[in-house]
Amino acid sequence: MEPMMVDEASRLDDDFDSRAAVCVMNTKMNPILDDYFISDNVLGLGINGKVVECFSKSDQRKYALKVLRDCPKAKREVELHCRASSCPHVVCIIDVYENVYHNQKCLLVVMECMEGGELFQRIQDRADGAFTEREAAAIMREICVAVQHLHLLNIAHRDLKPENLLYTKMGENASLKLTDFGFAKDSFSKESLQTPCYTPYYVAPEVLGPEKYDKSCDIWSLGVIMYILLCGFPPFYSNHGHAISPGMKKRIRTGQYTFPNPEWANVSQDAKELIKGMLRTDPEERLTIFDVMKNKWIVQYTEVPQTPLHTSRILREEGDLWQEVQDEMTRSLATMRVDYDTLQIKTLDNANNTLLSKRRKRANDH
Ligand code: ADP
Repeated sequence: MEPMMVDEASRLDDDFDSRAAVCVMNTKMNPILDDYFISDNVLGLGINGKVVECFSKSDQRKYALKVLRDCPKAKREVELHCRASSCPHVVCIIDVYENVYHNQKCLLVVMECMEGGELFQRIQDRADGAFTEREAAAIMREICVAVQHLHLLNIAHRDLKPENLLYTKMGENASLKLTDFGFAKDSFSKESLQTPCYTPYYVAPEVLGPEKYDKSCDIWSLGVIMYILLCGFPPFYSNHGHAISPGMKKRIRTGQYTFPNPEWANVSQDAKELIKGMLRTDPEERLTIFDVMKNKWIVQYTEVPQTPLHTSRILREEGDLWQEVQDEMTRSLATMRVDYDTLQIKTLDNANNTLLSKRRKRANDH
């Protein structure tokens, strides 16, 4: 086992042993229509096409079907989603088919059908009293369990945003799950490390370091989602609406956000401190998922004050701005992925140069 994994595994605190979760993608080659009826009912639209309803021929149960054109990126999406799929807070993949349509190889992904809709839609639609800080803590904990599971597997999701958090069903006892691994990255893959001689046993610590940038992207997302859960609007507003403006990028980079009243007046200091830790501008200083999972507000989520929040009302009143909030988060994450990928390559160059110069020095000494 890699040295880093020992340390990380010791921090795993509950629920499941995620090291047992590595599953091999078992792609079926027979036509999906042998096993499923595909309906015309569209469950959602994504950047890669439609997600439609389908029914198993064996048990008549309803599932969701996502169709991807086969390419290395799609393969990676499905492979990483499969590996993460055993977590109770990750949408479960049931089957994967490789079929040809109109001479185009496709990956058909059958997933459990999430019938409860998106996270914030549910909070907005709430009729029974105010949404409370304790409920927000319970939701954050569910999302954090998913992120912890991924990070223990060295998978960074990198697209953690409200529309990728779906409920299993309407009504009581629904659980919240994370989906869409389209930008997920295996932080220790050869591809991401771009160095042919990489092995975790002997490389310098600085070579192992860069993967934390990918993971810190997910923590930033957690901070933004937690902020919205507690007040109904995001911490960073763009002035212009379109491509992420230099002003907004600067506000994110310099961490310029506030906790304005009246929405934040009664929110606990513990919650604000946790958000500050997750939105720290320097990814090196940002909390890790293991820090977050140890935080009092998450560990003792059942004891967080039941303070009524303004969230449902603000989400309803500002419903017309919601698409913009989502677009803004999508753009910020895209910018962050590019920035962190660039940073990693630079760090790797430096690390490799350090190693190279040490080797050269040693060679010269002998
Ligand atoms: P893309 O990667 O193309 O953006 P997503 O995986 O995010 O696609 O799916 C697009 C939309 O389809 C989601 O926002 C959601 O509304 C719906 N959807 C995705 N997966 C499921 C599912 N398992 N059950 C129900 N609806 C789903």
